[in-house]
Amino acid sequence: MLRYQSLVAPALRIAFTSVDQGNLALHVLDDRDAVLLRRRDLERGLGLGTAEFTYMNQVHSADVITLAEHPSPKKIYTGDALLSPDASIPLAVMVADCVPVVFAGKTSAGPISAVAHAGRRGLLDGILSGTVTAMREHGAQSIEAWIGPSICGSCYEVPPAMAEESEKIRPGISCETRWGTPGLNLPEAARVELSALNVTVSDSNKCTMEDEKYFSYRQDPQTGRLAGLIWTDG
Ligand SMILES: [Zn+2]
Repeated sequence: MLRYQSLVAPALRIAFTSVDQGNLALHVLDDRDAVLLRRRDLERGLGLGTAEFTYMNQVHSADVITLAEHPSPKKIYTGDALLSPDASIPLAVMVADCVPVVFAGKTSAGPISAVAHAGRRGLLDGILSGTVTAMREHGAQSIEAWIGPSICGSCYEVPPAMAEESEKIRPGISCETRWGTPGLNLPEAARVELSALNVTVSDSNKCTMEDEKYFSYRQDPQTGRLAGLIWTDG
């Protein structure tokens, strides 16, 4: 597990899980009770006490969901970013190759947190800019972002037409894979986009396809999901 601490809001903790914590997704082929048990083990291990991470039903959209102070544990949030205006709600984003981005910020009243799922479609449609905008609308003055394990440009091959279409929308996103075919560099495009928005970015530089410690859909379509997490310590 990769762990970080926010500099602008020191009470905020950030983590990206690996295969060591197991699959955390309910929508893949896995035993539901085993997944729920793993989620609880993770919460206990990170010191959340009785608090639980809020996960979302991710659909490759550009929709940012702002959570109320007391979200219903039964409610299913469909979208691709979650925002907790006072950082009181532990947040989770799940991926296996797509780019998980965790955000920490500071408002005049205290910390603010968010997570986003940036696959090709969501990234091109502006899920990351949308998350930053929503955080600023909630008073965020300074924002940090962590780019978690995701497929790198050297490994992410796409059809030539898709590379061209993506490049038109986001100049610089297309690249060449290590075997010389058209590719897309999603984590780099995320870094460039966030930096241009004056967000301080840290990149884990871990490729899910190359590193066996992380789930990769391209490596195995039946794979599990890792999680990007943010919560308040104490
Ligand atoms: Zn790679």
